[in-house]
Amino acid sequence: RKRDDVDVEKLQQAVAELDTSTPFKDFTDLPLSDPTKAGLKASHFVTLTDIQARAIPLALKGMDILGAAKTGSGKTLAFVIPVLENLYRGQCVGPDAGLCAMIISPTRELAIQIFDVLYKVGRKGHLFAAGLVIGGKSLREEQDALARMNIVVCTPGRMLQHLSQTAMLNVDNLKMLVLDEADRILDMGFQRDLDAILDYLPKDRQTLLFSATQTRKVSDLARLSLRDPEYISVHESA
Ligand code: ADP
Ligand code: MG
Repeated sequence: RKRDDVDVEKLQQAVAELDTSTPFKDFTDLPLSDPTKAGLKASHFVTLTDIQARAIPLALKGMDILGAAKTGSGKTLAFVIPVLENLYRGQCVGPDAGLCAMIISPTRELAIQIFDVLYKVGRKGHLFAAGLVIGGKSLREEQDALARMNIVVCTPGRMLQHLSQTAMLNVDNLKMLVLDEADRILDMGFQRDLDAILDYLPKDRQTLLFSATQTRKVSDLARLSLRDPEYISVHESA
C-alpha cells in the first residue's frame, strides 16, 4: 500500500471515532488531513468560531446540516473544511474522479470569496481541481473547465444552464452539495433554479445548508434538499 492510503485509512478511523459531544476549541484538536492543517496554519486560523465548532465535527462524519448563524460568524470555513476533508478521505481527486462537490452561492462576488477561502485552506498540498462557474466567461470555456473540476463554486442560474445544456457534464459522482446563504438565494428568486438543480443531482449525497436567517422558505428548501439534518443555530456573537 502507498503511504497516502495508510494516511487516509488512519484519518477515516479517527473521524469514525470522533466524539461530537465534546467541544472543540482549536483546529489542531480535529482529525484533519496534513494539507488542510498546513493550509489553516499558513492562513493563521487557530480557534474555531461557534458555528464551526458545532458544524465541522458533524459534517466530517457525513451528516447533513442546516446551519444558521449571522453574517461574519465564519460559515465559509464551516463548509470549506468538511468539503476538503470528506473528498480527501473519499479520494475524490483528479480527472477520473469527476465532479464531487458543488458549492452554490447567491452572487458572483460571494462565489469568488468562497473560492478564495477554498484556495487559501487548500493550497498546501491538496490536489483537487476547483473552479468557478459564475458566468462572465463563455459557456464553452466554462464547459471545458467544468469537465476537469472536482469542486465547483457556482451561482444557481449559471450552474443550471450547464446542467441542462452540457450533455457531457456528469454529476453521478457528486458526494457533497453546499447551499451557502440559502436565505439570500431564495430572496433573489432562485427557488425554481435550485429545485431544477436538485433534480439533476444524485440523492445519495451529503448536503450542507447555511443561512444567516431562518425563514419559512429556508425550512421549505431544507425539507427538499436535506436528509435527516442536524439543526445548528448560533445566536450569540461568535
Ligand atoms: P459568514 O459567512 O458567516 O458571514 P465568513 O466565513 O465570511 O462569515 O467569515 C467572516 C470573517 O471571519 C472572515 O474574515 C474570516 O476570515 C474570519 N474567520 C472565519 N473563521 C475564523 C476563525 N476560525 N478564526 C479567525 N477568523 C476567522
Ligand atoms: Mg458567508
